[in-house]
Amino acid sequence: MNKPIYFLLFLSLLICSCESKLNRSNANAQNPYQEKVDSIIAMMTLDEKLGQLNLPSSGDITTGASQSSDIAKKIEEGKVGGLFNIKTVEKIREVQKIAMEKTRMKIPLIFAMDVIHGYETTFPIPLGLSCSWDIDMIQKTARMAAQEATADGICWTFSPMTDISRDPRWGRVSEGSGEDPFLGSEIARAMVKGYQGDDLTKNNTMLACVKHFALYGAPEAGRDYNTVDMSKIRMYNEYFPPYKAGVDAGVGTVMASFNEVDGVPATGSKWLLNDVLREEWGFNGFVVTDYTGIEEMMYHGIGSFQEVSAQALKAGSDMDMVSEGFLSTLKSSVEDGLVSEADIDKAVARILKAKYEIGLFDDPYKYCDLDRPAREIFTEENKSFARKVGAESMVLLKNEDNLLPLKKSGTIALIGPLANTSVNMAGTWSVATKQKNSISLLRGLQNTVGDKVRILHAKGSNVDYDLEYEKLVTMFGKGIPRDGRTDKQLLDEAISIASKSDVIIAAIGETAEMSGESSSVSNLQIPQVQKDLLNALLETGKPVVMVLFTGRPLAMVSENENVPAILNAWFAGSEAGHAISDVLFGDVNPSGKLTMTFPRNVGQVPMHYNHKNTGRPLGNSEGKFEKFKTNYLDVRNEPLYPFGYGLSYSAFEYSNFNLDAESINMDDTLNISVDVKNTGDYDGKEVVQLYIRDLVGTVTRPVKELKAFKKVGIKKGETKTINFKIDVEDLKFYNSELDYIAEPGEFQVFVGTDSTTKMMKSFQLTINNTK
Ligand code: BGC
Repeated sequence: MNKPIYFLLFLSLLICSCESKLNRSNANAQNPYQEKVDSIIAMMTLDEKLGQLNLPSSGDITTGASQSSDIAKKIEEGKVGGLFNIKTVEKIREVQKIAMEKTRMKIPLIFAMDVIHGYETTFPIPLGLSCSWDIDMIQKTARMAAQEATADGICWTFSPMTDISRDPRWGRVSEGSGEDPFLGSEIARAMVKGYQGDDLTKNNTMLACVKHFALYGAPEAGRDYNTVDMSKIRMYNEYFPPYKAGVDAGVGTVMASFNEVDGVPATGSKWLLNDVLREEWGFNGFVVTDYTGIEEMMYHGIGSFQEVSAQALKAGSDMDMVSEGFLSTLKSSVEDGLVSEADIDKAVARILKAKYEIGLFDDPYKYCDLDRPAREIFTEENKSFARKVGAESMVLLKNEDNLLPLKKSGTIALIGPLANTSVNMAGTWSVATKQKNSISLLRGLQNTVGDKVRILHAKGSNVDYDLEYEKLVTMFGKGIPRDGRTDKQLLDEAISIASKSDVIIAAIGETAEMSGESSSVSNLQIPQVQKDLLNALLETGKPVVMVLFTGRPLAMVSENENVPAILNAWFAGSEAGHAISDVLFGDVNPSGKLTMTFPRNVGQVPMHYNHKNTGRPLGNSEGKFEKFKTNYLDVRNEPLYPFGYGLSYSAFEYSNFNLDAESINMDDTLNISVDVKNTGDYDGKEVVQLYIRDLVGTVTRPVKELKAFKKVGIKKGETKTINFKIDVEDLKFYNSELDYIAEPGEFQVFVGTDSTTKMMKSFQLTINNTK
């Protein structure tokens, strides 16, 4: 590096280190690093600028050998702005050194990873986590994930995924927070705050990334990466809110989605990335494409590699993940007039600003403290938190005759292909997890009951009759060794141990990799071999508790009819086996509530509680077929388990539902209260839910919309009064002009234990249109 450049850079680093702490929400308003960023850009060559826009995967880097890898050469040549899929302080320090010591500009690299639901300490899959409805706890999971990931050298996570989805065929529902825009927004905010903390310059906070912008959760037929086609009014009212909530919470980065929106791939959509994201919502961070998102625009049929790369940049994509379209074509595009150097400078500026914000210019090695990993990652304290979180995410779907909780005595037969697999417990997208250290259900039970209970175990069946299918769903080291015995031999062994037991626990459902990316399905049933096993266990006449492992809502009509107790454990993370045992034995009273509707069959999907009434609603609530009404000949309209549903070992009785006014105007607040009594025999927690319905609008409105909820602990016999407030902000929506307004008229308020509640009162909103 020549001296003047070095001096300027040094000066800017010095100024930066004197900078006061930065809160991103304020940063979105103005850019305190503007001058420094501009002065660096003024010194950069076009090639160096393009390097900053390039985000390759770490490829062949291994500690000690990184200097000679291909990627190392690229870094040395200034062709890399950041790297992802690389972990450990040693490796990251080594790679950062290349950028700091061998490149002319000495701009630090940013290191990213998919830290999705925890790091080495892994929490439940996000769909499970959302079923806790415990926003503070969810925020704490993100905080702990950031603490661990930053201790391992990582400063940017590709999380949270805030895609609303109503279609359980789509495998990635496991990575999101379900179907509801209000709850999804609460969780998006909490995750962003958890990762980024209140001071991004600390070495235990990291940049978050709201993804996948936008509408990735609504692919046609639930097939991953498929076309999305949606009205703008639906986007704004139903799908956009969680992305916007993440932006409002000050998220540093946003990832463009793979799908098209209004006929344009999101990666190259100026309307999405510029007009909505930056201009309407005021997002001031940088946009990263998804993995090869730019290259894929060619297959969408939008143009040549050079054209799509130029389009992506001009639309507002700043960093190119893996395609290297920016790196390899933008120079020619400047010469050909497709983009200007000023367009490139804008993207570079946003990326450099982020590097300033997290303090990398202050200290490029700030996340590379060799003492931190042992002290901060996968600690006993973190594991015990994960155990608690795991139990909070589980949803009790059925509990006939109070079969659960189980007594810590007698003999239990634990049967099923998911009973003794630690590697599947963390679920999909858990790249940093120590798979083998996760607690299987068998181990969890043994650790929990010691020698008080005799535990017999048999596999009972393979995952699927079809070996080839089984291989597809047990990849990424998450295998369940195929048992060489015949199906009959496996079943016979299971029946024989079942006959010696007092109660059977059937551990069945999906493997971790049956959901997640590129894991869409057209059949929502539990694999047939496991259904056959379950039926054989039921035929023994012994009580059966089904522990369901799944990354998506499944269609389980026959299981719901025939199995007396069903606990949906999702994939509960590192401590899954312990957490499940805590719930099964009543050490934790389950309190999770579904955040995605469970359909009766696959033909009902997409399905969601907050649908419209239509012009031909059914006239009866028993689900009886009515000709020329909106229903099916062969299945009723209601789901198997509705949004918000989940049982407890206790029971909660609602009474004294009260609104403090019959009408409010735009400056008023409506106070709502309801008494909730725990009438059962256990202390418990209830998620008290509040929905509204706007009866008449200039556009059609949903039959119910979640507007508030509280998760409260209520001791047995105790009654608590729960208070809510509603004001005009809660009643607003986007009309056909996409104006955000509230309209006067009658509203209904519902409170209750799930989205089917009929406990309702009405009030009037007396205003003219408000913007
Ligand atoms: C996924 C993203 C992820 C990225 C990087 C893509 O395939 O869609 O969610 O962040 O890979 O791993």
